[in-house]
Amino acid sequence: MDPVWLLVLLPVAAASGWLVATHDRTPKKQKTHIPDRFFEGLNCLLNDQPDEALRIFLDAVEMDSGTIEMHMALGNMYRQRGEVDRATRIHENLVKRTDLDNELRSQALFELAQDYFKAGLYDRAESLFQELRKIKSVRIRAGRLLLQIYDQEREWEKAIEVSIELNKHSDSDYSHTIAHLYCEVAESNIRTGNYAQAEANIALAFKHDQQCIRGVLQSGRLAAMRSNHTNAIAIWRSLEYLAPDYLGEVVAHIENSYKTLGDLASLRQFLESALEKNTDIRIINTYAELTREQQGEKASRALMLKLVREHPTLEGVLQVIASQDRAAGTSGQEKDYQLLASLISHVVETGRHYSCRNCGFQSNSLHWQCPGCKAWGAMQKPQVPELKPVHQ
Ligand SMILES: [Zn+2]
Repeated sequence: MDPVWLLVLLPVAAASGWLVATHDRTPKKQKTHIPDRFFEGLNCLLNDQPDEALRIFLDAVEMDSGTIEMHMALGNMYRQRGEVDRATRIHENLVKRTDLDNELRSQALFELAQDYFKAGLYDRAESLFQELRKIKSVRIRAGRLLLQIYDQEREWEKAIEVSIELNKHSDSDYSHTIAHLYCEVAESNIRTGNYAQAEANIALAFKHDQQCIRGVLQSGRLAAMRSNHTNAIAIWRSLEYLAPDYLGEVVAHIENSYKTLGDLASLRQFLESALEKNTDIRIINTYAELTREQQGEKASRALMLKLVREHPTLEGVLQVIASQDRAAGTSGQEKDYQLLASLISHVVETGRHYSCRNCGFQSNSLHWQCPGCKAWGAMQKPQVPELKPVHQ
């Protein structure tokens, strides 16, 4: 016998207990004994005859009104075991009944919607969850699952509507989620060239989350796309006090905008200011590259060495080796540098990733929604192996 079937006894026992406990307050039409057919079905389950058991249970549910909770519990158990077809048949039979009170009918419909959801029948699940959203007792649970469907189907507008309602009626805070969803819509607007609509959606994102980092990044991009580089720089540089951890994400954009404006002095000032708050290797590299362009290879190498001493990371060491490599030319040191560089590069690559603070999912690129747990804004910046500072 499959020992998992023993689990059936738990919900059945619970349901039987519920029936006994509610005996006195159960309306007369539902007050009944547990039918023999039910025990017959249990017997089949315990003898590893699940199809025969299911047939008996389905017969019983049509004949007897007192076993509704037990059927509900059995259906749930089938679904949890991954036997969604059986769960669906039980719940479909329940909702066909005409003698269910409103509460039990809503509960049965909610279970059936979950069966469809688990089976990937999102259209059917969606229409049931939409219906159930209007019923107070299952409104929040139906809304959460509906949000998962719209999230998966990338139907952002519908997801926004459901999230706003959940934010109003549930105990959870959905404001970050709503802001990210508006940013998703803005992203589609940008792709189709509808910049005015994108700006309107970003404004709505800020309405729900005043510190929406993604909105800041998008606003800067929009300004740069409209060739308003002064404005773009001001928007991106607001991250210096709003979220310095994200400066590495925008340093290339800021460099590009300053260079378009021909204002290299301000670019240098920005990089120095940014490095006080964030030692992301992308900022260090941009600073070293600017120094190379303005003052030559030697000055750049000296700067890189100084920065890596002050803010030691393996990535920084890798850059120093690369610059030494260039300086070594064809000397005998070149091969040693290359070997050292490839070893450190391997360590850096295996240690460089964004990770989700919610579920630990790791990725080489920044996802606004974690591909693992679907949480919004939970991916953190790269965790690069740190070294101890060098003192001379
Ligand atoms: Zn995650």
